[in-house]
Amino acid sequence: MIPDHPFDDYRGRRVLVMGLGAFGGGLGAVKFLVDRGAVVTVTDLRSAEKLAESLAALSETSPDRLVLGRHDEEDFRNAELIVANPAVKRDCPFLVIARSAGVPITSEMNLFWRWNRAPIVAVTGSNGKSTTTAMTHAIVERALSKQPGRRAWLGGNIGASLLPSVDQIRRDDLVVLELSSFQLADLNRLQVSPHVAVVTNFAPNHLDWHSDLNHYRESKQAILRWQTQGDVVVLNDDDQDVAHWPLIGRRLGFGLRDMGASGAFWNGKGAVLRQNGQELELPLRDWLTLPGQHNVANALAATAAAMSAGADIASVQFALKNYQPLPHRLQFVGEVDGRRFYNDSLATTPESNEVALAAFEQPIVLLAGGYDKQVDLGQMAIAIARRVKAVSLMGQTAPSLKSMITKCEKNRCHVSEPHVSFTEAFAWAYEQSEPGDVILLSPGCASYDWFRNFADRGAQFTHLVQRRMASKNAGE
Ligand code: ADP
Repeated sequence: MIPDHPFDDYRGRRVLVMGLGAFGGGLGAVKFLVDRGAVVTVTDLRSAEKLAESLAALSETSPDRLVLGRHDEEDFRNAELIVANPAVKRDCPFLVIARSAGVPITSEMNLFWRWNRAPIVAVTGSNGKSTTTAMTHAIVERALSKQPGRRAWLGGNIGASLLPSVDQIRRDDLVVLELSSFQLADLNRLQVSPHVAVVTNFAPNHLDWHSDLNHYRESKQAILRWQTQGDVVVLNDDDQDVAHWPLIGRRLGFGLRDMGASGAFWNGKGAVLRQNGQELELPLRDWLTLPGQHNVANALAATAAAMSAGADIASVQFALKNYQPLPHRLQFVGEVDGRRFYNDSLATTPESNEVALAAFEQPIVLLAGGYDKQVDLGQMAIAIARRVKAVSLMGQTAPSLKSMITKCEKNRCHVSEPHVSFTEAFAWAYEQSEPGDVILLSPGCASYDWFRNFADRGAQFTHLVQRRMASKNAGE
């Protein structure tokens, strides 16, 4: 087998970084390798124009060569090490060429694991990874702030690479990582797992990358496969798949029903925390400003994980009370004339739209629809027909959503015609609303037909809300 780390001294070594990407991993790898004296080539199928932002961020640590808009086979044969972006399939033709030439292939996360000395708390799952990771980090950051010299670091799939900072991370700091199934598939080769592993839930996803559901599950299970008995695993007891995963570490559960097990559970009034023979009740709902029971589940997982890593109750309380939602995830963006606007642009699947609809008690005016990923929207149409007061339809899926919603037996929702622009869809939604309503962007579909990506869609929504707030204030 070709080793993952053939050498620890990178000086003068030819390293190929495949896939610079826009989310930090590629950048982190380049900075780290250039700093350590490697001869770095970056190759990416995207053009320099598309990668402009990432390239600008490299100005201080420029790679030796850029091969953009294409890959050259020679680079894959001649490298001494390849750092591949996690989203690149490991059996893609260029990596097959590299492997048959005996070139080792690693990843930014595997390099981080090689050099990091601090204990790691890591979160994976199909939904709620980023929120749970950010909450866990907020709690341990507060707890460590009371201990001079110690720091809590946040990184991984959440969008920031810790690799360039790895030398600053001390042995008694704490690292909190979000790990994707792709990153875990690579880590599995190192036979490593974090000291505290959290699994939020498991649902079919990314089946275009993983060969099948089993491969996806087995990749995710790498988060606990290589733990030892002194480690901790935090599993979702409401998830019939995850609840039964085989494990080695000490088990804590979390969930929205309390069956008396060790871990953190919702008991209908608040959270019950059971650990090391002690039981505590926490008024979690008073602390948590985020809407939705799914966020209660995320907070329970984060609390169990952070406390098993040494955080105290006061830090949980402080961190949850002050927690600001990540952008585009049921993010409150403003209020105009008694209407509250929420940006849930990241809801690109029908399931995440359903979670969002369940998160509010007020009447909802919804903006939904978008790019057609050929996913079945039948259940989402039923949920909209039952729960939503008016729906403003956008994008390619608008006509089919309209026909499915209006055909629902108990349809109580006022359905728009398919709109031709986002401004029009937004204006229509506002016209249908009354004081006390929630106006919610939770499309349940991808954004690519009308927008650059989900972030662009959320930013345009926020901009339209702010414009309305400004004209309202100017008129008063
Ligand atoms: P991920 O990092 O796994 O994509 P996020 O925390 O970024 O998850 O949340 C993305 C979206 O997934 C949210 O807007 C919400 O609609 C949905 N979501 C968040 N947490 C959960 C959960 N625990 N269960 C189901 N859906 C969730």
